[in-house]
Amino acid sequence: MKKLMAANWKMYKTRVQAEETIKDLLRLLGDLPSDREVAVFAPFTALDACGRALPYDACRRAFDSSDACVRVHQKASGQPAASFFLGGQDVYPAAEGAFTGEISPGMLLDCACRFVLTGHSERRHILGESNEFVGRKTAFALEAGLDVVLCLGETLEEREAGKLEAVLREQFSAGVAGVPGDIAPQRLSLAYEPVWAIGTGRVAGPSEILEAHALLRDILRKKFVAQADQMRILYGGSVKPDNASQIIGLDNVDGVLVGGASLEAESFSRIVLA
Ligand code: PEP
Repeated sequence: MKKLMAANWKMYKTRVQAEETIKDLLRLLGDLPSDREVAVFAPFTALDACGRALPYDACRRAFDSSDACVRVHQKASGQPAASFFLGGQDVYPAAEGAFTGEISPGMLLDCACRFVLTGHSERRHILGESNEFVGRKTAFALEAGLDVVLCLGETLEEREAGKLEAVLREQFSAGVAGVPGDIAPQRLSLAYEPVWAIGTGRVAGPSEILEAHALLRDILRKKFVAQADQMRILYGGSVKPDNASQIIGLDNVDGVLVGGASLEAESFSRIVLA
């Protein structure tokens, strides 16, 4: 299984800044190891500019799976595939309609996205999204053709009250309630992001990551049975160039989701290559 190295740019970057960062990343990541994939979750307003900066722009609407896109890119350029993808940071669970300010899965696909995040802690805790709403988004986005990275994680209060397992089980079961049990495993990933580690500089320790990821693998197996071992579980929370290689080497860590340290191409490329 390829590790997914993901950048979450949150509410940063104009179109020009985003395009420049994508170009820098493509240059710095020319020799991407074959066991890595990169995803950039850019702000909605910069997605189109980012898509146009990708080498496989011509095929960006044509792919229905990463493999298809990689093959088209190789054929068109004669170069090794970049395995470099775009994602939206959020999505609304409807095809279109009177939902002012919202973005549909089709709009993300139209901007070259393969992925979307659902349930990021900033949306759960700042925007007040419920587990049930996150679940509706996850199911709808998958059905519409996007691959989903479902984020979950506990607050410090929940951890200190011994509620880690209960919180993860609850967020998971509502988050995947509408997802078919036989979904292709590369279409759904989890991102374990302890809320107390996001943007705080306080990274979870190896034992905390191992415990949560083993628990999530077990939870995945209950719903997705044989497919579960092929589903990626990412870690997110203050990942930096100097701690990435230790984190990525842990059991059941199949990638990382990086906020602050993904904004600069130099820093994020060191994480991707860690
Ligand atoms: C995130 O936004 O998903 C995140 C993990 O942020 P940071 O790396 O800044 O903690």
